[in-house]
Amino acid sequence: MALPSGERIMNFCSNCGSALESFVPDGDNVLRKGCLSCGFIHYINPTILVACVVHADDRVMWIKRRTEPRINTWSLPSGFMELGETLQEGALRELYEETGLKASPRELRLYSVGTIEAINQVHVHFRLPYKGQDFLRETAEASEVRFLKYEELHGRELAYPVLNLSSQTFYQEMKASKYGVHIGRIKSSGDIEVSQAGLSIDAPMKVFSSNRLHEFR
Ligand SMILES: [Zn+2]
Repeated sequence: MALPSGERIMNFCSNCGSALESFVPDGDNVLRKGCLSCGFIHYINPTILVACVVHADDRVMWIKRRTEPRINTWSLPSGFMELGETLQEGALRELYEETGLKASPRELRLYSVGTIEAINQVHVHFRLPYKGQDFLRETAEASEVRFLKYEELHGRELAYPVLNLSSQTFYQEMKASKYGVHIGRIKSSGDIEVSQAGLSIDAPMKVFSSNRLHEFR
């Protein structure tokens, strides 16, 4: 049995500093790294990346990355969710950090959820209809912030292959002003295997007080 792919190598217990062993803990069925000295099991779970697709007419807001990885390539405002914030709060925090644009969680619409098993990540994209808010042309994280038409993406290197396909779909949907909610698996090649799409939901998401997120309307 192999450890799940993409798992970071961890050799020492973060609880007591002893060397870690790989074993299947009692009552579990997954090979994990655990500590025989203090009994601590190091569970490693996927990380969640949140992104905002800010759109106006036929344009989408892109940033040119000022930092590694993939410095100087174009990406959507995005980053990893922090503890203690909701998906929407995380997406808007990243948007603000990278572009200076402020919006309310209620303005966000769920757009896509993609699982990338190869790198243990789940990417959640929200879209945000642009309402003329101020934003910065450059920030500490972006050397350029620009609204670009689909044609204007041509010749620009995108940060990740998956952005080529997903942005193509988004621009197409934008033309018709009909947006789906896409749920799928993103392969390491950048291909997308969509398991559920085209629900054509174009209404504010309900605010949920529980973990049940299946009742989109
Ligand atoms: Zn330990």
